[in-house]
Amino acid sequence: MGDYGMSTGDANYIKNLNRRILVEHIIKEGALSRSELSRKTGLNKATVSAQVSSMIEDGIVTETKTGDMTTPGRKPILVEMDGDSGFSIGIDVDDKEVRVVFIDLRGKPIHTEVIQNGDKDIDKLVSEVKEYLTPLIERFESSHDPIGLTGICLGIHGIINSEDEIEFTPKQQWTHVNLKELLEKEIDAPIYIDNNANLSAYGEQVYFENIPDLFSITLYSGIGLGIINDHTIYRGFRGFAGEIGHMVIEPHGPACQCGNNGCWELYASERVLKEKLSSLGKGNDFEELLSDPAAKEIIDEYIEYLGYGLNNIINIFNPQRIVLNGALINQNPDFIKRIEGTLHSKINSYESIRISKLGEYACALGGAAFVLKNYLDVNTLDYVHYDFFNETKMFA
Ligand SMILES: [Zn+2]
Repeated sequence: MGDYGMSTGDANYIKNLNRRILVEHIIKEGALSRSELSRKTGLNKATVSAQVSSMIEDGIVTETKTGDMTTPGRKPILVEMDGDSGFSIGIDVDDKEVRVVFIDLRGKPIHTEVIQNGDKDIDKLVSEVKEYLTPLIERFESSHDPIGLTGICLGIHGIINSEDEIEFTPKQQWTHVNLKELLEKEIDAPIYIDNNANLSAYGEQVYFENIPDLFSITLYSGIGLGIINDHTIYRGFRGFAGEIGHMVIEPHGPACQCGNNGCWELYASERVLKEKLSSLGKGNDFEELLSDPAAKEIIDEYIEYLGYGLNNIINIFNPQRIVLNGALINQNPDFIKRIEGTLHSKINSYESIRISKLGEYACALGGAAFVLKNYLDVNTLDYVHYDFFNETKMFA
């Protein structure tokens, strides 16, 4: 109001904006000298130097002298993210398994664990999570300072509304539970909560697909769709977007827990496929299964139904990339070709369908990355060029 000079607010805004631009470039390129940073961002050298110094002080970046050894003279000093200064946690809260991933400030996974039998009682679950995390957080805070824990993001297999509240989970039967608030009382760190399919899609984009739009379909006990639109998770009006498992495929089909009949996940989730195959007394060896006529019929029908739903998604969104993530599909890459064989429509347009590379860790990794994105206050995280998964051997 009537302030024609540059206020402290404006100066801070520009400072934060400059820092964001620099951090995004450092993450994308891995390591850059101050002069390269100036050239790539268009910021002048004095601004870059002042920002880098303040980011070193805050523990965001570090400087190394591991520049090009073949260049004669002084080795360039490179600026890179400081992996040892902080970390974040992503947790995939499924009913039978709770999957936990810690990543450092560079985005590298530093700890993974699967806890069996997450409690259905929400208060018990909160105290279990607290009991499990507290000693680990202490351990990693002693090796990652000065920043330490930047936050925790929980992936929930259900609907999270726009007030960050669990609206409903079919498996645990949680309704209107504020898990975020319950954990905030127990753990002193920013807590985020999101749908598992959203976080899985985010994980795929950050770690493997640096494209602005991406669709990830998780096919485990239900079917979830995570939509990344312009590098951002698309949530819809109240956070319910992507409940694609409840798209009606057969109007006179069996009743679903959601209140409709013939929902897609009653035909195309892996849980249903496994149930049908186990009724034949068959295992998971697909070569053996496909040689059995009864099993082959079940698998053919499953792929056909998977194709119906995909056809609809493709026609609504015209996606560039679709990532399919399920235990059976990840083990049987040939399924992709067979599924694509069901997409006959002349108006089906997409670039490619591929299998998830993060598999069952997609949600937890996406959650941990989501925390870092917020902590670093950047628009995009791009870890595509890092070889984390060969480096760590955690996901082999
Ligand atoms: Zn339904």
